[in-house]
Amino acid sequence: MRRTLQTRISLTIALAVLFTVSLISFLSNWLIHAEFERYIRKKQAFAAEQIVNNISHQYHPQTQGWDAEFIHGVGMYALSDGYVIKLYDARGSMVWDAENHDMRLCAQIMSDTARRMAEHRPDVNGRIAAADYTLTQGGKTIGSLTIVSYGPFFFSENDFRFLEALNVMLMAIGIAALVCAVAAGCVLAGRISRPVVKAAGIAQEISAGNYGIRLAPETGTRELDGLAQAMNHLADTLEQQESLRKRLTSDVAHELRTPLTGVAAQLEAMIEGVWEATPARLQGCYEETLRISGLVADLERLAVTESAQLRLQKTQVDLLALAQTACSRFESLPKKIALRAEGQRALVPADPDRLLQVMLNLLSNAIKYTPENGHVRITVQDTAQAGIFAVEDDGIGIAAHDLPLIFERFYRTDQSRSRATGGAGIGLSIVHALVSAHGGSIRAQSSPGQGSRFEVTIPKH
Ligand code: ADP
Repeated sequence: MRRTLQTRISLTIALAVLFTVSLISFLSNWLIHAEFERYIRKKQAFAAEQIVNNISHQYHPQTQGWDAEFIHGVGMYALSDGYVIKLYDARGSMVWDAENHDMRLCAQIMSDTARRMAEHRPDVNGRIAAADYTLTQGGKTIGSLTIVSYGPFFFSENDFRFLEALNVMLMAIGIAALVCAVAAGCVLAGRISRPVVKAAGIAQEISAGNYGIRLAPETGTRELDGLAQAMNHLADTLEQQESLRKRLTSDVAHELRTPLTGVAAQLEAMIEGVWEATPARLQGCYEETLRISGLVADLERLAVTESAQLRLQKTQVDLLALAQTACSRFESLPKKIALRAEGQRALVPADPDRLLQVMLNLLSNAIKYTPENGHVRITVQDTAQAGIFAVEDDGIGIAAHDLPLIFERFYRTDQSRSRATGGAGIGLSIVHALVSAHGGSIRAQSSPGQGSRFEVTIPKH
């Protein structure tokens, strides 16, 4: 059966409290009873001793007799306490006997005690027994005393009443503790479960596509606040991903639609005979389709780069050597541009293929946006924490308002659009994603008309 979190926590707390309270009640009950029994045993041993002492002191050596009135008092008092006493003088003649005095009362007291003990404490397994004591005074035997009582010990009616009251009290304390603990448990369970229940509700909202919802992390419990923060972060990420996905889809549609419409219109015109299908026109269409498939390939590369599955094959890479390799790829340029790599050797842990791609993209941009006879160089610098390389050109540059946007997908500055250089605005997005995958950063500086500088930092640790 599936229960709510609050019920589950409340039940657990209630069970734990029930167990603890029962254990405490049982143990304290047991301890109190054992202690009380010890006390009664001691008291009864002392009581017999006291009766013997009291009676010995009432012997008058001059008269060689006893104070009959006092003996009677002691005897009756002992009887009310559950002791039947019989006093004999030194010759063995009866001086005082409780049974002689009140036979019925003696029998009743003994049978009441025996019945009570058999009823409440059958484990004691006692019986009525007589104990004989020799009475002495100044070393001389003056008589003997027989004390008849229930042994090995017995509880009086008052003792039983006391024990019963104790039981009731313990039970009342137990029940009160149980009620308080269960109430406190319910409140606590509510406080613990509320944020979790809220988080579950929010998770459901998020899975239903409502990404705007947020949880206030204010429970004061570290784990629960952490849960709220994680949920909010999840919602943030999903919201971002969702907007990226939407934007990417519309961007892709937009980027593909224009060239495709163009090619379709040209082909249609040729099919319908409006245009003659000259090799030059067909060549134009062919180049346009190549450009479109290039764009699709770029998109694919970007998707791979940005996906979490990007696995870097890291080795120690010398940035200077890599920069020289990158430059060598542009040796047979139709454009007249001075291209060189210079600086220090810098070893960084990186995936050489991916880093080469970063350099190639940056260099190809620099070359693309630098006019004939311009200069492009890649410089490498080594520091304790990182390897840094910068691609600089003295080309057309980038306007200040474009600078923060050039790493966005499909973003092209107005100038580059009007120059029809053929880029789709994906190159720098790929560069950014690859540098981030290395834990590095990229920075762009530029002055329109004077040139641009892209600086990439790859950390060593
Ligand atoms: P593209 O394929 O259009 O070059 P990128 O993502 O590589 O796409 O670059 C985005 C835009 O940034 C370019 O269209 C261009 O406007 C600008 N840009 C990038 N590099 C340079 C550069 N070295 N000089 C001037 N503008 C640049």
